[in-house]
Amino acid sequence: MTSPFDLQGKCAVVTGAGRGIGRAVALGLSRAGADVVLLGRPGAQDATRDAVRELGGTVDVIDLDVSDLDAVERVGSDLTGSRQVDIVVNNAGIIDREDSVAVGRDSWQHVMDVNLNGMFFLCQQLGRPMVERGHGKIVSIASLLSFQGGVRVVSYAASKHGVAGVTKALANEWGPHGVQVNAIAPGYISTDNTTALREDPDRSRAILERIPAGRWGSADDIAGAAVFLSSSAADYVNGHVLTVDGGWMAR
Ligand code: NDP
Repeated sequence: MTSPFDLQGKCAVVTGAGRGIGRAVALGLSRAGADVVLLGRPGAQDATRDAVRELGGTVDVIDLDVSDLDAVERVGSDLTGSRQVDIVVNNAGIIDREDSVAVGRDSWQHVMDVNLNGMFFLCQQLGRPMVERGHGKIVSIASLLSFQGGVRVVSYAASKHGVAGVTKALANEWGPHGVQVNAIAPGYISTDNTTALREDPDRSRAILERIPAGRWGSADDIAGAAVFLSSSAADYVNGHVLTVDGGWMAR
């Protein structure tokens, strides 16, 4: 009997797969059998592409800045015109740590364009044929700040609340057409995104004290959840934002 986590024969698209969570997710999907397509800025996906090939996986790289919505439309349309996309993982994201009183329009707009607008319009492009076909999986990387406000991260919190909102709205609309749309809310994960926090001894200690697991998460902790939500094991999971946070939200 085939494992419900088997992704053999599936094509999975991952954004921002050059490092951190995106890289781990792309490798995880490839290990589960999927052919992966890495979307990201020029050159940034090359190391992940080589790692997938070393594992014997099939991989393509397409240049895309997800904040360029014309490019999102063009790449999305080219992709769906040339192959069947079964899985989309919206991972690319940025954070702007700044006092709310100082946030300017440009930085606000850029965070929204990368984290939310790019995510939605890629869902729209790649999801349309899934709806027509009657099956597909979309997984977006949200955040604990999809539920909470945080401090000095107003644009990030707004964008990640938006990711959860888009996830639930699309789940309602596309669920009847066999497409499951879910998100993962990672806790504190050791990546470039959190270097500043980990290097601040007081903040790092305070964070660690609140995590029941007693450690920071790894990018691989998120990859497992992404494989699950991309697989037929999650066929009855829809519109869910899954916390993977070592128990942080239970406190
Ligand atoms: P990293 O900073 O390590 O990686 C971010 C990735 O996003 C990089 O691959 C980066 O590409 C890509 N990216 C950024 N901007 C763009 C863009 N305009 N177009 C295409 N790709 C882009 O962070 P993480 O791996 O930690 O973050 C991945 C996701 O997880 C993000 O959405 C983040 O918000 C979320 N997250 C992370 C948490 C954590 O604790 N680390 C907690 C909660 C959520 P490039 O190399 O070209 O810069």
